[in-house]
Amino acid sequence: MSTVAAAYAISAPDGSFEKVTIERRDLGPNDVLIDIKYVGICHSDIHTARNEWKGTSYPCVPGHEIAGLVAAVGSAVTKYQVGDRVGVGCMVGSCGVCAPCLADEEQYCERGTVWTYNNPTDPALQAGGYTMGGYSTAVVVTENFVVSIPEGIGLDVAAPLLCAGVTLYSPLRHWQAGPGKKVAIIGMGGLGHVGVKIAAAMGAEVTVLSQSLRKRDDGLRLGATHYYATGDRQTFKDLRGRFDLILNTVSADLPIDHYLKLLALDGTLVILGLPENPMAVTGRNLAAYRRSLAGSMIGGIAQTQEMLNFCAEHGIGAEIELISADEIDSAYDRVMASDVQYRFVIDTSTM
Ligand code: NAP
Ligand code: ZN
Repeated sequence: MSTVAAAYAISAPDGSFEKVTIERRDLGPNDVLIDIKYVGICHSDIHTARNEWKGTSYPCVPGHEIAGLVAAVGSAVTKYQVGDRVGVGCMVGSCGVCAPCLADEEQYCERGTVWTYNNPTDPALQAGGYTMGGYSTAVVVTENFVVSIPEGIGLDVAAPLLCAGVTLYSPLRHWQAGPGKKVAIIGMGGLGHVGVKIAAAMGAEVTVLSQSLRKRDDGLRLGATHYYATGDRQTFKDLRGRFDLILNTVSADLPIDHYLKLLALDGTLVILGLPENPMAVTGRNLAAYRRSLAGSMIGGIAQTQEMLNFCAEHGIGAEIELISADEIDSAYDRVMASDVQYRFVIDTSTM
């Protein structure tokens, strides 16, 4: 039997969010029906809702930082039971047989990862023919793309970990952040602030590179050792050649050359933020000190579970501002103004 759910949708790039009802697919044998309790607002939701990446289908229901409780399970589900605390992140499917999928890197599926929203899908699975995300009271997801939220983390502060958390955890693990490593995080927003907590818990020395010193006290409280303003030109002189790893979480265009010069020998700058425009890089800044420029996309399902377990063990959740569903538009405006501490989370009981 299909489920009718309340949701908040936007119908045009310059539109506002409105309450709608959507139908979720019939519960298949491997499906889990989730009663969504909280959903985070990721900057990717804004890029998509406002068609900044092109290709947005409307009406669009964003949301890929989903936390809730299992409400029903299909006949063949083995991992979850009704009442379990669960999460869903950016993906709800992949081919399962290509090399990246077999390596637990479903986000790089060669046949195309199925994203949680705005992804073409069989109209029999979702009316309209594309996926609809978590700004909703319920969702149906195949059990392999559902993760378990450990008891130690509140569902509200866990929700942002499903995207922001794993997007920072994955490159921190891949480039081996830990004791003796100097890690810089550019941008202390939704992604950045979780990255500060996780990198510090891994034992790395963490520096925040923020536009101003406005959020300095918070940065130090969350685990950073140093905090610099990128609006101050002296920062780029003082920090030249300093870092082993720089994670760029900024959603807007940045003069990336300035930041490359902050890398030490063999250091890597990882692009996580995804502004719409291409960026310019000067070869000399990479060749000097054998630097690398890389990118990283969220993390696989197994790593998402590993990240949640790590966060529970270290008492890490996101710093959130809980809002009601009718505040989504104003929350978007505040995110655009870098005025959020540090992730908006929608309380779906207000839908
Ligand atoms: P966010 O909460 O808006 O944080 C971005 C931060 O970037 C802001 O808080 C601000 O930090 C800084 N910033 C914003 N505008 C800037 C500007 N003009 N110049 C310099 N710094 C600026 O966004 P988010 O949710 O963390 O997402 C960040 C980006 O990551 C988005 O582009 C999103 O689409 C992308 N993303 C990528 C992945 C992935 O898998 N790679 C996953 C999720 C999201 P300060 O105030 O501290 O300067
Ligand atoms: Zn996201």
